[in-house]
Amino acid sequence: MKTASAKFVSKEREKLLKDMAHVTAELENLRDLMQAEVDVEPDEGDSEIFEREKNAALIAVLERRLKDIETALKSMEKGEYGLCTRCGNPIEPERLEIKPDATLCVECQREVERLSRRNRPQRQIDW
Ligand SMILES: [Zn+2]
Repeated sequence: MKTASAKFVSKEREKLLKDMAHVTAELENLRDLMQAEVDVEPDEGDSEIFEREKNAALIAVLERRLKDIETALKSMEKGEYGLCTRCGNPIEPERLEIKPDATLCVECQREVERLSRRNRPQRQIDW
């Protein structure tokens, strides 16, 4: 299996480390925000609840991203960076340029997204 060149990997590694610092800082920020809002009055209205829901969703997204970045960095140590974790084929370099923390090739990503869309229950908003 042909893996990415050392030069490419070290460039991607720099990007990942930068991303990781950024995402970590953002996460700390959001967590502080959530902490600070703990004693919100229940009747302060929907906007507060909406803000909290939005922050919680953002935290989940960032945590996922952080995990992807860590996975990508670990795969670099093992010399497996740029290989799809699902099918083992090389991930398109153009894709890694844009998304250095990609762990799936385009085809698998599409498949995973298709499956998760199908399995996701309809979200009920009743407030
Ligand atoms: Zn794949």
